[in-house]
Amino acid sequence: MPSCDTLSFDPASIRIPNGHFIAGRLETGGPGLPVIRPSDGQVIAELPVADAATVDRAVTDAAAAQAQSGWGACAPRERARVLRRFADLIEADGCALGQLEALSSTRPITDAMAYDVPATAEAFRFFAEYADKLGGEVAATRSDHLGLVVSEPYGVVAAITPWNFPLSMVSWKAGAALAAGNAVVVKPSELTPFSTLRLAEIAVEAGLPPGLLTVIQGDGRTTGDALCRHPRVGKISFTGSTLTGAAIMAASAASGVKPVTLELGGKSPQLVFADVPDLAKTAGDVAGSILYNAGQVCVAGSRLIVEEPVADAMLDALVACFSAVRPGPTWEAGTGFAPIVSRRQLDRIDDIVRRTIAAGATVLCGGGPMPGRNAGAWYAPTILTNVTPDMPAAREEIFGPVLTVQTFSGEEQGIALADHPDYGLAAGVHTGDIGKAMRAMRRIQAGTVWINRYGRTADFVVPTGGFKRSGIGKDLGRQAVEANLRHKSVLIAF
Ligand code: NAD
Repeated sequence: MPSCDTLSFDPASIRIPNGHFIAGRLETGGPGLPVIRPSDGQVIAELPVADAATVDRAVTDAAAAQAQSGWGACAPRERARVLRRFADLIEADGCALGQLEALSSTRPITDAMAYDVPATAEAFRFFAEYADKLGGEVAATRSDHLGLVVSEPYGVVAAITPWNFPLSMVSWKAGAALAAGNAVVVKPSELTPFSTLRLAEIAVEAGLPPGLLTVIQGDGRTTGDALCRHPRVGKISFTGSTLTGAAIMAASAASGVKPVTLELGGKSPQLVFADVPDLAKTAGDVAGSILYNAGQVCVAGSRLIVEEPVADAMLDALVACFSAVRPGPTWEAGTGFAPIVSRRQLDRIDDIVRRTIAAGATVLCGGGPMPGRNAGAWYAPTILTNVTPDMPAAREEIFGPVLTVQTFSGEEQGIALADHPDYGLAAGVHTGDIGKAMRAMRRIQAGTVWINRYGRTADFVVPTGGFKRSGIGKDLGRQAVEANLRHKSVLIAF
């Protein structure tokens, strides 16, 4: 973990890089979209919006850089060396990078330094280790033929990222694309665009050829769409909402049928059986899974499905956790509960909660924006009971600190409630019976199932990705690097 003298910092002291990063240079642009910091609602910059001509210039330059620098053709260990150095420099710059992330996103500085910065460096290191481990295959077909499967990069990969973990999301996508020999053009979320720029500057300092990690700024409709449709983009890697994922898939289909990796929304269950060995620990896991980053996590455990005998004890423990949060500005070390990214998102959360209450749910705690914090946007940690599967808060992704509670009796009913009709990103199963855990794991349709724990660690070898409307393909793991390669079959007669 990077060390700073004190974790708290003065937001006025932070240099904010702004603009596009094309051909290894920061291009400051004119006025564009106001960027607002979530902790106090202040406008901190005007973000330029890349139009189709700027997108074209960025992608064309990235393609030329990939071809001319030899990045795709060089010995993979050379790519690995540069990516490892990149990781080292991210750590060396850790304080400044963590502060920039905290200033301009929902990530409290303590979390940014404990997770985002070290995990970003570690992701590049992880992918560096794969660079030369993915050789092709030799497939002997007949005695007078030799078959080879040769892996090749796409050339340019487009990476479009969301606002909830800005640094981390870029590292997953850029790390895999670069290790496989591609150039990557990143369009970060227009709400949290700055830490990605600093990452691109560090990449050049580490020796990554200019143009290999390009950043263009703008909104989805103008910049993101133009990037997806650009003819020189070979593959699209996206993380964001299911609605946008579908639009990107359509744009890909209309512009060359490009392969897509889509990491989308979720509505993940926490299935708690009455035989859990340690109810207090399980309550902590459940609370953490919905309170971390104020629930603005794709795999947030937003639906508690709890077996009746332990439901009351579980709810008592949860209310205690939900009442103990420490909201505050993201630049103060004591802050333990994140702001909501925007007023718009706050209103969206509240609208789903209101509609669920109107449909008959009961508010056990929270139930609205936090009072007395009007400059920023905080939502009170909320537990809704008497929820049925058809209610809005049980069906729709909220992306806020709102937990719905449904009780069940017996394994069959619990598993049936846990499986969501639309989403299948992740699930938690908590039980002292390994057989029950395995049966639930088999039947719940989700890309990740955590058993007697919840949430990812920096264990990048395990891939992440959703089933159903939660996505297509995987980030992380060997699968992510392979998804950034295309395979050519060669048959040689002799
Ligand atoms: P979003 O879909 O609104 O935006 C994501 C990105 O897509 C942004 O950069 C945006 O500018 C861009 N975009 C929007 N419209 C576009 C278009 N038509 N063409 C191209 N790009 C476009 O999502 P968000 O609000 O930033 O992030 C929250 C969502 O992300 C949640 O649904 C969450 O579940 C999901 N998410 C998923 C994962 C995962 O691993 N599955 C991880 C984090 C977040």
